[in-house]
Amino acid sequence: MHVDVVIVGGGPAGSVCAAKLRKLGRSVILLEKERFPRFHLGESLLPQSLYILDDIGVLDEVRDRFIWKYGARFHDDRDGRKARFVFANAFDEKWPHAFQVERSKFDELLLRHASKLGADVREGWTVKRALMQGDRVVGVVAKDPEGKEHEIRATMTVDASGRNALMAHATRSTSKIPKLDKTAFYSHYTGVPRPDGELAGDIDIVIFEEQPRDKITGAWSGGWFWIIPFKGATTSVGAVVASEWIKSNRHKGGPDEMLQAAIDQSTTATDLTKNATKQWPARVEADYSYRVGRTCGDGWVSIGDAGGFIDPLFSTGAHIAMRSAWKVSDVIDAALRDADPSEARFADWVQDTRTGVETFIQAVDAFYKGPLLEYLFAENPRTVLRRSITSILSGDVFTSESIWIRDLRVRLAEMNAKAP
Ligand SMILES: Cc1cc2nc3c(=O)[nH]c(=O)nc-3n(C[C@H](O)[C@H](O)[C@H](O)COP(=O)(O)OP(=O)(O)OC[C@H]3O[C@@H](n4cnc5c(N)ncnc54)[C@H](O)[C@@H]3O)c2cc1C
Repeated sequence: MHVDVVIVGGGPAGSVCAAKLRKLGRSVILLEKERFPRFHLGESLLPQSLYILDDIGVLDEVRDRFIWKYGARFHDDRDGRKARFVFANAFDEKWPHAFQVERSKFDELLLRHASKLGADVREGWTVKRALMQGDRVVGVVAKDPEGKEHEIRATMTVDASGRNALMAHATRSTSKIPKLDKTAFYSHYTGVPRPDGELAGDIDIVIFEEQPRDKITGAWSGGWFWIIPFKGATTSVGAVVASEWIKSNRHKGGPDEMLQAAIDQSTTATDLTKNATKQWPARVEADYSYRVGRTCGDGWVSIGDAGGFIDPLFSTGAHIAMRSAWKVSDVIDAALRDADPSEARFADWVQDTRTGVETFIQAVDAFYKGPLLEYLFAENPRTVLRRSITSILSGDVFTSESIWIRDLRVRLAEMNAKAP
């Protein structure tokens, strides 16, 4: 069997890539090891993903099925400061909202859409390795649901296997991002109160003092909550803590006790969850951030989390996944047209993706180090800077022409250079 493109994984990256390539008329097989719907983290989306959902033809259905997110609210439990960023105030005014989604439903919708567009979607198929011809990847070896191995040959292989990062592990090109060795404890709750109207779908990011600040540097070790409301009565609650916190709280017990210990340290989280009911025992995700040095080669590319993952602080993962998938599809299409799927063709795409991702990394760094946190809560912030921050919170980092993003990149670099 030979197709134009084989895609490993049916998360947002894999499904968007499959849908876009089908729209471009390419033959696609998508292999997904799970059966959907399946649980996944990554529930808060960004406005800048909407043009991608629109382009592949699912935006109307997403608009119907999920709660609209108009802004992001930050709470600093250390001193009671609050700030709300409204996406309508971003520089790009075209996309004034995003969505909060149960990923089981969202990912299934995207996967079924790719299938409707003609992708050969196979659930319960696990890709074991890339198929090599010299240095070139020419497809994959995969196990079907009965455990039988198959060779699937393709001109291009797309690794969208998420944090399994098939190709990155095979090429040994992952590396840790310093100081982002965080851990998340999380569950879904019913009964978390939420405001009415447009505020109902906002994400709440709640900062709490998990460890005393460093007496000399003033550095903050970085504990925060996500509180993500879904359409209906369910709310996702997660605590993100540093490794030092784990060490000093490990004696308290398992994930449920750790999540509760974090809630006990936060007045806002305590208030929001005091009459709420946990739907299932808390789960844990640890030390999830990494860079990938090489995201393409002859006959293959890695997209989404398979190409690297940064801290979830600004809800960037699904956006990077869908944007990298959407953008690379055109490059793959051109490579197929010219019968030349060589590594060099992907250089601009690699640069474009990296520039955006590194902007997010700089912002996350400046937040944990402190300076960006202070800007978020500044009492009289300059209008331009506030719009720049709102734009970055909207996911608008993949533009290199705008003056505001160039200016913001310089500022973030300065903040990080000065901070301890
Ligand atoms: C604590 C935490 C909180 C987060 N919060 C947010 C958030 O609020 N907003 C946000 O945007 N992002 C968030 N993220 C990130 C988000 O989860 C990911 O960035 C996003 O899911 C990436 O999409 P993807 O398609 O690249 O990978 P995935 O969604 O992981 O999909 C990969 C798919 O590949 C399949 N697969 C893996 N290996 C194989 C194989 N060998 N063969 C076949 N199939 C395979 C998997 O089953 C999976 O379905 C969070 C992440 C963490 C850790």
